[in-house]
Amino acid sequence: MRLDKLLANTGHGSRKDVKTMLKKKQVTVNDSVVKDGSIHIEQNVDTIKVQDRVVFYQKYIYLMMNKPQGVISATVDDREKTVIDLLKSELHHFKAFPVGRLDKDTEGLLLITNDGELTHQLVSPKKNIEKVYFAKINGFVTDEDIDQFAEGITLGDGYKAKPAKLTILKSDTVSEIEVTITEGKYHQVKRMFESVNKKVMYLKRLSMGEIFLDDTIKTGTYRELTEQELDYCL
Ligand code: URA
Repeated sequence: MRLDKLLANTGHGSRKDVKTMLKKKQVTVNDSVVKDGSIHIEQNVDTIKVQDRVVFYQKYIYLMMNKPQGVISATVDDREKTVIDLLKSELHHFKAFPVGRLDKDTEGLLLITNDGELTHQLVSPKKNIEKVYFAKINGFVTDEDIDQFAEGITLGDGYKAKPAKLTILKSDTVSEIEVTITEGKYHQVKRMFESVNKKVMYLKRLSMGEIFLDDTIKTGTYRELTEQELDYCL
């Protein structure tokens, strides 16, 4: 990253303020005064100081969002609001992206990072990471549905989903369930229920592997992952 960009991104004022600081010889890189803001900084290698104070900067960011309905799991879109649009502007330079996708009308746990390796760990089908969803279903969910989910539901396009664990929390005209899947096919949970002639009316992701949605995070907001959560991911 360019030195001037790094300084602006780490709360050292506007680009103009940064230019002034550089001119005044207040900035050093590896203990040499630098006046040129365009020089390239090797993150986590070079030591930057402003008026003899070390500047701490972060290369990667790891966020847990409680995704609201009505926003899409993408980085940019011409028409729709994206989950990245919900991040405060100070975080935009990280160029983070969502880990996997939730539908526009799905809520809940969404990880956001700029670390491609972590993304691979969590979304690779080979890793069999368990994802748990809470859903409201139009109609009575039955023990027969539990058996069919456990066996592997055949979706409308003929694909046989891997066995999934279905737990009925409430069976009624509107049922409440939890379902655990290890895949992430397009509209997977909705299509699994369609295959047993039921409709998902509300869907919320509760967990991915050992990362559980922190229910103190209001919908539409986010926080950084804790050390413990990161240890699990990396
Ligand atoms: N399954 C779905 O149908 N939608 C989601 O957003 C996630 C899983």
